Amino acid sequence: MDADRHDVPSELGDCFRTFVRFRSPRQLLLVLMVLVPLRVLVASWRWWDLVVLVVLILIQPVSEWLIHVRLLHVQPTTRVRRVIFDLAASGHHDHHRDPGRLGLLFVDTTTHVFAAVFWGLAFTAVLRSVPLGLTGGLTVASLTLIYEWMHFLPHTRYVPRSALVRAPWRVHRLHHYRNENYWYGICTTFADHLLGTFKTRDEVPLSPTCRDLSGEVA
Ligand SMILES: [Zn+2]
Ligand SMILES: [Zn+2]
Repeated sequence: MDADRHDVPSELGDCFRTFVRFRSPRQLLLVLMVLVPLRVLVASWRWWDLVVLVVLILIQPVSEWLIHVRLLHVQPTTRVRRVIFDLAASGHHDHHRDPGRLGLLFVDTTTHVFAAVFWGLAFTAVLRSVPLGLTGGLTVASLTLIYEWMHFLPHTRYVPRSALVRAPWRVHRLHHYRNENYWYGICTTFADHLLGTFKTRDEVPLSPTCRDLSGEVA
């Protein structure tokens, strides 16, 4: 589905129904529908499952910040950066050009599969355990789905009531409509506070390159 700005919903239920029409959330839900029963069937629960879960949750704010800054905003100024741009950044540049077009905001579905498989294999290899590898892959897929939802909401007309959701919702709108060099967090504002890219709205000038990232210096 490739909804345009005329389809942008304003009620939470409509947001959810629109969200699950896109390929990326559907694929992530499918992945979870396979991995959750598989993990339950394999059983063999240990405290390490909790460790894997907590570690991945804790690194999520910084990893999404790093991906946003170092990959998605990269400029094709060298040969290596051109490769990164073509693989990862060009879609995000399109998203900045037209933030109201919902079809442009989702993560590429190949990336989902790669991330879940990579982390699943990494935990399997490091902890020498297939169940822990499954927990890792399952957690990454769940966090990616939450990321997609939290990135989707600021691009709708819905205004969240919960302060926990409204804070990142607000700063992502500032990232698109005030200044693209600040407010890189999507699910939380923690990494922006930690890494110096959190400001109040009036501390930051209106950027002329919010829509056209090719004007950025990177
Ligand atoms: Zn966005
Ligand atoms: Zn951005």
